[in-house]
Amino acid sequence: MKKQTDVGPGLSTLSLHAGSLEALAGDSVTQSPNFSTSFHTTPDDVGFSASDLKADTPHFYSRWSNPTLDILEKRLATLEGAEAGLVFASGMAAISGLFFHKLRLGDHLVLCAVCYAGVAELAHEYLVPMGITVTQVDASDPDRLAAAIRPETRLVHVETPANPVLLLTDLQAISQIVHRHPDVALSVDSTIATPIGTRPLDYGADYVIHSLTKYIGGHGDALGGAILGRRDEIAALRRASLIHQGGVLSPFSAWLILRGLETLPLRMKKHEENARAQEAFLADHPAVASVFWPGSPRHPQHDLAKRQMRNYSGLLSFTVKADGRSYARRLAERLRLVSYAVSLGKTKSLIFYIPTDDILRTSFRLTKEDEQLYRSWAGEGVFRVSAGLEDSADLIADIQQALA
Ligand code: PLP
Repeated sequence: MKKQTDVGPGLSTLSLHAGSLEALAGDSVTQSPNFSTSFHTTPDDVGFSASDLKADTPHFYSRWSNPTLDILEKRLATLEGAEAGLVFASGMAAISGLFFHKLRLGDHLVLCAVCYAGVAELAHEYLVPMGITVTQVDASDPDRLAAAIRPETRLVHVETPANPVLLLTDLQAISQIVHRHPDVALSVDSTIATPIGTRPLDYGADYVIHSLTKYIGGHGDALGGAILGRRDEIAALRRASLIHQGGVLSPFSAWLILRGLETLPLRMKKHEENARAQEAFLADHPAVASVFWPGSPRHPQHDLAKRQMRNYSGLLSFTVKADGRSYARRLAERLRLVSYAVSLGKTKSLIFYIPTDDILRTSFRLTKEDEQLYRSWAGEGVFRVSAGLEDSADLIADIQQALA
């Protein structure tokens, strides 16, 4: 595995500077420029087809490329140790862009059993009717993942830590398995870990995916997504998935995300510190049945977390002994600092309840064995807490009064 320290400046420096336009003497030391434009004049004949796009084609239409998006793509690629990056209008635009690019009629996708519900729904409701088969399998067990790969498998997509229960996948183990098959690529949704926690390409992944809407943007004011990987693969994705499918990030959103990115390493430290304090508080609370946070020795995969994560992120989940839905109502009404809301990775703390029967019915398609795995983590329903940047004691006091 490559270590970040082997490859130059540290992640805090890179979060501020990587990909920036070269500063000239006399330039102001400001934020990256926001080129909120849909097109540029072009001195050259650039062609009108995506197949005319070359590495040195100048910016001429923002569905092809844009200078602000370019800075964000380069900065994210540098942070992930990738050759190149491509940004999209949302995390789902990035994931669907990858799926529709890699998978054709008759192909097979292996998807981890626990993942963002929207990804499972995309796979089952859109890929399957197009003649692509999908197997959702517990990727935290490398043997089960190995057994799920078939001759027609083209992509293995995993999420670690996985939303919403924070189950981990051993990236080194599964990338060895996937790469026994030369026609199969491995993509890793690393939205929750961020490059501050884990760099999946260092463990052998082919693609890293982010919802930039979450920790990377960090302020809950812009949607965005990204794919990082090899230069030739990213160029192909730009033609097929960005230019033709058209899910382009707005330059203003890219500008907001770049500003958020400047403080990512600092924010991740504080998110982690607050998650650690909340996990300890919740683990001792009489109403709480279980709590999961990869940084805790109580997490069943803490040894893997220690090997694979340099920062344990700010997301934790817990279950309660009593009826979860009535606790959810109570928390929504009583919490003052923590907002009852669906997203994660924002500066302010958030909490959301996900009933197990609902997610198994609407989103996942699991075998009985994997349904049991999910229930063993999530019980009847799981509260997902995104620990923000408030003072720890204030957050705990807020949750304490609401749970009482
Ligand atoms: N991946 C993960 C892990 C997520 O949690 C989400 C959204 O919650 C997505 C992808 C989708 O991202 P977006 O909402 O930016 O489309």
